[in-house]
Amino acid sequence: MNDRIHDVLIVGGGLVGASLACALDGSGLDVALVESESARMPMIADADARSLALAAASLNAFEALGVLRHLPAPPAPIRRIHVSRRGDFGTVLLRADEYGRDAFGGVVPAPALGAALQARLVELNGLHHLAGAKLVALRECDGVREADIQRADACVTIKARLVVGADGTGSMVRKALGIDATTHDYAQHLFAGSVRASRPSDGQAWERFTEHGPVALLPRSTGPLPSNTYGCICTVPAAAAPRVAALDDAGFMALLQERFGWRAGRFVAVGRRSGHPLRQLVATRLIATRAVLMGNAAQTLHPIGAQGFNLGLRDALTLAELLRDACDGDTGSDALLAAYAQRRAADRAQTMAFSDGLARMTSNPALPLRALRSMALGALGAIPELRARLASGAMGFRGVVPQLARDPAPQARVAS
Ligand SMILES: Cc1cc2nc3c(=O)[nH]c(=O)nc-3n(C[C@H](O)[C@H](O)[C@H](O)COP(=O)(O)OP(=O)(O)OC[C@H]3O[C@@H](n4cnc5c(N)ncnc54)[C@H](O)[C@@H]3O)c2cc1C
Repeated sequence: MNDRIHDVLIVGGGLVGASLACALDGSGLDVALVESESARMPMIADADARSLALAAASLNAFEALGVLRHLPAPPAPIRRIHVSRRGDFGTVLLRADEYGRDAFGGVVPAPALGAALQARLVELNGLHHLAGAKLVALRECDGVREADIQRADACVTIKARLVVGADGTGSMVRKALGIDATTHDYAQHLFAGSVRASRPSDGQAWERFTEHGPVALLPRSTGPLPSNTYGCICTVPAAAAPRVAALDDAGFMALLQERFGWRAGRFVAVGRRSGHPLRQLVATRLIATRAVLMGNAAQTLHPIGAQGFNLGLRDALTLAELLRDACDGDTGSDALLAAYAQRRAADRAQTMAFSDGLARMTSNPALPLRALRSMALGALGAIPELRARLASGAMGFRGVVPQLARDPAPQARVAS
């Protein structure tokens, strides 16, 4: 066993773990990152056809962390968000310019973001990065954490003052720490891909709820000209997933048109799709002795409202900020961990309640709820304070906003 004791061991080099490694660059801390997939594989497979909506706060952070410059094209700005529900009255149109901003955030293809983070990881100085390295056991020993890491045929033990579980929904770290999690199966399956429509997006995102779950279009940038290409999601009941997965392009396009309607015009082409079962997982605690959870390991959300990664990134930025402030102290101290749990509590609770509430309420066909929903959408459209709250959530400015996620120059800011 090696006697080196790392300040921080990050388990999981997905979007959140890799972002944490980037945010700790230059902190002077001795950081190790272990990821079970091999380095040659992008952290998001090319087959993943999702478009990720990144909040303005996340874009601020990625700009500051030097990640955005590795994207093949800049994120497509989301300037307006239109929300409606099939069969209910009332719609909401949120406009970024009402809040003194150009955009609520931007859209990037998931594999492009994964590749950009990989490219940035390669540039980091001093990161001890082990790919193809899987955590198989974790224990506490003599005041530090010891992690057994399986790599090819060999098993090595890594010691650290703090272990970060960024290892996704099935988190081995969470299980090894004995942290319970509550789960909920939405019994829905989401298909993500791209679609070309007869009308240009011009920065408009559409969120349309139906009794079978949400359908959404996100603007995609293809250059300086107005783009007719959107990232799309189409949610179906889990039982219908095999049938929808087997549809050809024309069949999927017809389904999307029927579910979404004609607000973006006629759909004329669709790209390849990826399918995703929808489950919620919420860890009952974020911290244990010399360990924290973040990202999907801490909370896996319904993707409605595009909050999951944005929230996980704020987990990572917050921990990085606390670790930098405590740079000459013990990175796994009880005080630091308590501060992390406390700083994440409000943002986490609000974002989870928003995503879960929206997912459950909008897919319930009961008649009294329809009336309530119509009233709620009407109120959202008419009451400025409610609209402002929704807008600040969409921009990622919730709770204690980490320094790196704040606007670089003073601008009009929506109260959270
Ligand atoms: C259809 C869909 C659309 C979405 N759209 C959006 C959106 O628009 N905006 C948004 O903000 N969020 C969105 N999300 C949520 C977002 O994708 C997730 O929140 C985010 O990817 C979570 O990243 P993570 O790094 O926490 O977890 P993961 O991506 O699961 O990464 C975990 C990593 O840990 C590694 N690992 C696992 N076990 C071990 C081990 N034992 N040892 C070492 N490594 C290990 C894995 O290989 C993996 O690389 C969407 C989700 C879905 C399903």
